[in-house]
Amino acid sequence: MPLTLTRSDLLQQQNFINGRWCDGIGSTRHEVADPATGAAFASVPDSGAADAQAATAAAQAAFDGWRALPARDRARFLKRWNALIVANTEDLAKIISREQGKPLAEARGEVAYGSAYVEWFSEEAVRTYGEIIPEQVRGKKMMATREAVGVVAAITPWNFPLAMIARKIAPALAAGCTVIAKPAEDTPLTALALVKLAEEAGIPPGVLNIVTSSREKVAEVVGAWLADSRVRKVTFTGSTAVGKHLARESAGTLKRLSLELGGNAPFIVFDDADLDAAVGGLMAAKFRNGGQTCVSPNRVYVHHAVYAEFAQRLSARIEALRMGPASREDSQIGPMINSRAVDKIESHVQDALARGGKLLLGGKRVRNNVADGPNYFAPTVIAEANHDMALASEETFGPVVALFRFSDEEEVLRLANDTPFGLAAYFYTRDIVRVSRVAERLQTGIVGINEGALASEAAPFGGVKESGYGREGSSHGLDDYMQTKYQCQGGLA
Ligand code: NAP
Repeated sequence: MPLTLTRSDLLQQQNFINGRWCDGIGSTRHEVADPATGAAFASVPDSGAADAQAATAAAQAAFDGWRALPARDRARFLKRWNALIVANTEDLAKIISREQGKPLAEARGEVAYGSAYVEWFSEEAVRTYGEIIPEQVRGKKMMATREAVGVVAAITPWNFPLAMIARKIAPALAAGCTVIAKPAEDTPLTALALVKLAEEAGIPPGVLNIVTSSREKVAEVVGAWLADSRVRKVTFTGSTAVGKHLARESAGTLKRLSLELGGNAPFIVFDDADLDAAVGGLMAAKFRNGGQTCVSPNRVYVHHAVYAEFAQRLSARIEALRMGPASREDSQIGPMINSRAVDKIESHVQDALARGGKLLLGGKRVRNNVADGPNYFAPTVIAEANHDMALASEETFGPVVALFRFSDEEEVLRLANDTPFGLAAYFYTRDIVRVSRVAERLQTGIVGINEGALASEAAPFGGVKESGYGREGSSHGLDDYMQTKYQCQGGLA
């Protein structure tokens, strides 16, 4: 099916460097496929080191002018950009759905979510206050001012192709940084459409640059940025393995790093929980984007007293989910992003069943009709999960719910924290004293208490342990893009 947009010019298929749309210097391209069918429907440059270096040079040249703009002027550019994102929601949602596979309704939600960050940082841009330090020695004035760190490289994953890049570009530009971006191989088109709207908003040439590449060439593109001392910061969302690689490789030039990495979220249902609310919260947290989210619960711990009841109510809700292509308005779960993702989900399910898991629902690939490709995986529930299973220590990133049994608070806290990851955790209880006790002891950057939908531009989003460092959103969101300068002026007595 052709991708029909109100504005066909939003389907950009070139790099954007120094205010110009251009092909890669090496002129090879890679294809972008619809995850629902596997059919290619667009292509973008398969860029290399030379393209990456051209983007860096443009961003470096634009930096002095951009950071010197009054904060209010930078804010105006962001507001104009945001207005264009909102006005083109439907086209952006169609592009997201087509290249990423999430249902259209969810894709519209992602546009609103990403746009909220742009709006938020257009407002925060004018509040990057410093400090006047009270006089310590007569005649000496001391100040701490905040300034933009410089050229920022932004590297983003495929699961939220609009929101993940918007929540990096917006704070970077608000702070006065310039940006070079590389979207994921599977989903470059949404990012290119966003940049097209940024161009239309009048953001000056060189301030925002984007380079696309295939998985085979990504190390070359990003490697050119990691080795370049003009790039002062890397902001990355993606897997922990790649995050560690970036930390190692950027050490040579001591870049600032923000790493939003993988998770393996525990979701705890205590025996005093409101079970319907817990089922609702789990459905929201688990099935957003078909389970392909970093804060998706991978381990659901249910108190043995309510285990059977919870499993039964949950399975009834999951069984009613409608799978289908993103383009169908009533789809609730689309295809997974690609066949590698489905292979991983399948291997986690098989491993769990081989290690004592009991299959309550799903457990296999499905094809609803002949047009479907091989990337659909049935929503799955596995009971009697245990910590020997791969899904207890690795992200499954798919529509698989694993139900673990527990009998007391101490035990479940030990199990919940028994992971190298520390992004999000959730728990449901009606005991107010337990609320603060458990929230304090969970080793994660984000805790949902009787709530499954946590993301907000007004809140600090990020992890601890091997889920990374840095925070996106909130009043803290600009900190990662700014550095503090201490100024001491003498001779004033
Ligand atoms: P990924 O494989 O780490 O890829 C993320 C980005 O890094 C992509 O642009 C990818 O490019 C690039 N990349 C891959 N290998 C690289 C290398 N050697 N050097 C430099 N860049 C490289 O992760 P993903 O599979 O796209 O995304 C899923 C992961 O993201 C999950 O672990 C999920 O939990 C995490 N995530 C975290 C958050 C958060 O806020 N903490 C949010 C969303 C997702 P290619 O696409 O070309 O390979």
